Amino acid sequence: MAEKRDMFPHDESLERLPTADREKRLSKKLQQLVKYAYRNAPGFKARLEAAGLKPDNIKGISDLPRIPVLRKDDLIRLQKERPPFGGYLAVPLKRVGHVYQSPGPIYDPQRRVRNTFGSPGIGAGLIAINAWSYQITPAGMIMDTVLKNMGFTVFPAGPGNTDLQMQVMRDLQAACFVGSPSFLASIIKRAEEQGYDFKKDFNLKYALVFGEMGGDQLRRTFSEKYGIRCLGGDVYVTADTGIIATSCDENAGMHVSTDMIVEIADPATGQVLPPGEAGEVVVTPFDEVYPLIRFGTGDLSMLITAKCVCGRTTPRLPRIMGRSGDAVRVRAMFVHPRQTDEVISRYPQISAYQLTVTRQDNRDEMLLQLELGSQPAEREKWIEALRKDFQETCRVRFDRVEYLPAGSIPQGAKKIVDKRVY
Ligand SMILES: [Zn+2]
Repeated sequence: MAEKRDMFPHDESLERLPTADREKRLSKKLQQLVKYAYRNAPGFKARLEAAGLKPDNIKGISDLPRIPVLRKDDLIRLQKERPPFGGYLAVPLKRVGHVYQSPGPIYDPQRRVRNTFGSPGIGAGLIAINAWSYQITPAGMIMDTVLKNMGFTVFPAGPGNTDLQMQVMRDLQAACFVGSPSFLASIIKRAEEQGYDFKKDFNLKYALVFGEMGGDQLRRTFSEKYGIRCLGGDVYVTADTGIIATSCDENAGMHVSTDMIVEIADPATGQVLPPGEAGEVVVTPFDEVYPLIRFGTGDLSMLITAKCVCGRTTPRLPRIMGRSGDAVRVRAMFVHPRQTDEVISRYPQISAYQLTVTRQDNRDEMLLQLELGSQPAEREKWIEALRKDFQETCRVRFDRVEYLPAGSIPQGAKKIVDKRVY
């Protein structure tokens, strides 16, 4: 992979630029990006021309809303028409080290990861455990690079294996853990069950734990009870765009990365909404590999533009409020009705279904309700197969199954119902 030349180098001081200077910088970068993508990504060229635009029409960030939002569904269709990247790959494939798949399915080429959390040299001489998956989705590799950018030596643990992770954490005297807050909580709990004094017997100084609703509470516990410094607080990252925003120590929302432009747009029209108004997060990363200009994440949030107590002037996203479309984020994975449909269609006995997501004790719970048109021969085996199939396709497990009498689920009802309240 050609890593030597970075078209859009990262610079921490950019987080403190006065607003006018930041906007000037973003406008210049955007012009550069649009010209570059027009030349190198035929998919983007076609999209711009279909909107009746030429690169010269985009003179700055105020012109950005003229480009239609690229939605996840568009990308799925474009990738099918022009595999594998829908005409959006702007470098030769030989410059791409990895390819990932995210739900949809959407294929994502590996992007350059520039982010760090805290001072860049913080991890020199220390070991970090990375519990995000290194397979299929980019989470593991993104965080691997972030950790290396910070100087850490990484143990690529991946998810699961609580006992093994606990042992590794102790044996290697790991100083940092990266993964979901609830997974770190279970590792600590397991250590305590085995008679360890976590604060004394372990050396965990830092944690970069995110990806779950309700993470704030756990981060507070890690810090207050175990003296673990939670770097970056919450992190907003998507497979398609990389790290979008991270919270600072003030816990006053997530600061938007200086490596991209983030807009909040009306999910229906793509029209930009003013600060403080909720809408879809639309992202334009400065990325020469995969320039997804105005990519609609489908996530709902709003922008805060007031300067933060921490001194950074970058706009903030207070939190992600949910999905603007039908896909629902469950335990850090997006579950889309298209995927659940796909699984259910393999079980002809099912005549109707509905998936309901609730939240109990800081954990997302999924209830699968089924109406059966005919009875499967061995219901236990049958449901086990469905359970496995579901997990393989959606990459999250459902917790409970309920059988309903025929006609209980109205025709045309939502396939996934999100009942979580935050
Ligand atoms: Zn801040």
